Amino acid sequence: MPIRLLPEDVAARIAAGEVVERPASVVKELVENSLDAGANRVEVETRGGGRDLIRVQDNGLGIPAAEVELAFRRHATSKLETATDLEHIATLGFRGEALASIASVSRVTCITRHANETVGLRVRLEGGDIVSRTAVGRPRGTELLIEDLFYNVPARRKFLQSERTERNHIDAFLTRYAIAYPHVAFSLRHDGREILSTSGNGKAGEAVLQVYGMDLGTSLLEIPTTLSDGQLIQVHGFVGPTDVHRANRGYITVFVNGRWIQDLRLTYAIIQAYHTLLPVNRFPVAFVSVTMPAEDVDVNVHPAKTEVRFRDGDAVFRAVQRAVRATVMDEAPAASAWQAPPPSDAEVVPADADLATRARLAALTPAARQIALSPTEAHVETPPFFVPGAPLASQETTLPVAISRSTPAAKLPPLRVIGQAATMFIIAEGPDGLYLIDQHAAHERVLYERLLSAWGQGQLVSQPLLEPATVSLPVAEAAYLEDLLPTLQALGMEVETFGPGTFLVRALPNLLTNVPPGDLLADVAANTDERSPIQVGLEELIIRRICKRVAVKAGQVLSREEMERLVRDLEQTANPRTCPHGRPTIVQISVEQLVRQFGRG
Ligand code: ADP
Ligand code: MG
Repeated sequence: MPIRLLPEDVAARIAAGEVVERPASVVKELVENSLDAGANRVEVETRGGGRDLIRVQDNGLGIPAAEVELAFRRHATSKLETATDLEHIATLGFRGEALASIASVSRVTCITRHANETVGLRVRLEGGDIVSRTAVGRPRGTELLIEDLFYNVPARRKFLQSERTERNHIDAFLTRYAIAYPHVAFSLRHDGREILSTSGNGKAGEAVLQVYGMDLGTSLLEIPTTLSDGQLIQVHGFVGPTDVHRANRGYITVFVNGRWIQDLRLTYAIIQAYHTLLPVNRFPVAFVSVTMPAEDVDVNVHPAKTEVRFRDGDAVFRAVQRAVRATVMDEAPAASAWQAPPPSDAEVVPADADLATRARLAALTPAARQIALSPTEAHVETPPFFVPGAPLASQETTLPVAISRSTPAAKLPPLRVIGQAATMFIIAEGPDGLYLIDQHAAHERVLYERLLSAWGQGQLVSQPLLEPATVSLPVAEAAYLEDLLPTLQALGMEVETFGPGTFLVRALPNLLTNVPPGDLLADVAANTDERSPIQVGLEELIIRRICKRVAVKAGQVLSREEMERLVRDLEQTANPRTCPHGRPTIVQISVEQLVRQFGRG
């Protein structure tokens, strides 16, 4: 085929595809327009997950009647004049593409009245062409109705996901904007059901509660505004304390100059700020809003405007990391010499917030956090869509679950490992003095909860041994073990009888594959006094015995990494203070005790 210019409608649809990917992109573009128009009330309504109808109404400036037609033309915008304007964009829109794109793939009705005009205008467009035009009365502001999205792009319509998924994308967008714009009253309804309604009273903390719900919302810490005083790069927002964490990064939100952006580096800055404070492979909850001079950010990177480039990315990285770190550290009890290790590639900020800030942060602490969930249970998390106002049952599936380790009394504070004593105990320092940890008991506790929870969720992965191992046992034990075989099977231990008193071990849970199978079976079949499965289930009993076998022993020299890992793992358990057999894992010597002992108090 020869080269030729595409007909205008084909080009338009191709371009529209970059801007309007799904119903949520329509909502995004329309809401951005409302915010650019200075609205302080924005109502969003959808039907059929946004395929059938999206309605966005605002009380902004409105569009002058003479310009409405133009607004729907490609590259028509009131927000840019010259190319140099591109260098300091202060509005959310600037490309003049959204309305044209949306109109080319849907049926649009626009009703608007400009603040300086007495009559409003109602136009209807189909496939981008105006099909009707009437004068109407309405309060100042703009209402856009988008019907039958992608009706003329069957391929795109086919690729839309379930109504629920599309709604979730819209929720994810609008809830974030509701937090970022606390001065704007947002409301959202899907199929007549109210999802979100914020007051617009300017209190970001209230918007956070409305969006995240009480449990998570009250646990979040506000980044003190004092941290940004006099800074060119200002960082505001809310971050989770160290005991609130998630299985993925989806709970990290970054705004730059009022725009929600996807930025791997800033996301990483936030994760880094929690360095050593969160368990491995867990991610913080954070809502971080950065404001900086418009000329230091380039938003003209992608048609969807969700990516930006910074003139000085390092400076932004540092500012974000600093602010988040300072906020998180300030929340931890500030006792004596305690200080967690500094983040690797950033300055350490002293936790020097004033009393008022502290009081405000304290007020945000929840009366009661959610009861402990074992860490592995967090894998069943749903994506980060906050649905305030939804019935409780559905909240349970859509709201992220706060993973607090246990009741506040039993919870361990973040500990800093100092060393090992008597090849038996780990010495650590915490906010309230010294902690001595029994390495064996602690490891037993960690393994026990892991195995138990993996088993409880049917996630005990068993691994075949390279060579099946034969194990022979004393008769009594062998008989006992024979009764246990089905239970062992359920625990991922494939063991079969192989002659009198002899067993063949074919597979073991992967946590156990480097334990000699003979020792393992001996342990499982031993401890006759503990055999009664009355108090606990047989499986649990076996798991306890296995843990006893597998856990590091007294007398074993541990490397610093091993000790640190063990302590971090212990912090994550639901009951860090006792081993599965009920003995203490940890003994604390408070600063007070030390002070008294030294005759200082
Ligand atoms: P952009 O936002 O990039 O300028 P759009 O296609 O989104 O491009 O909008 C085109 C123009 O229509 C805007 O520049 C603005 O002047 C006007 N407009 C769109 N939506 C609204 C609104 N809700 N209130 C007032 N003016 C609007
Ligand atoms: Mg726009």
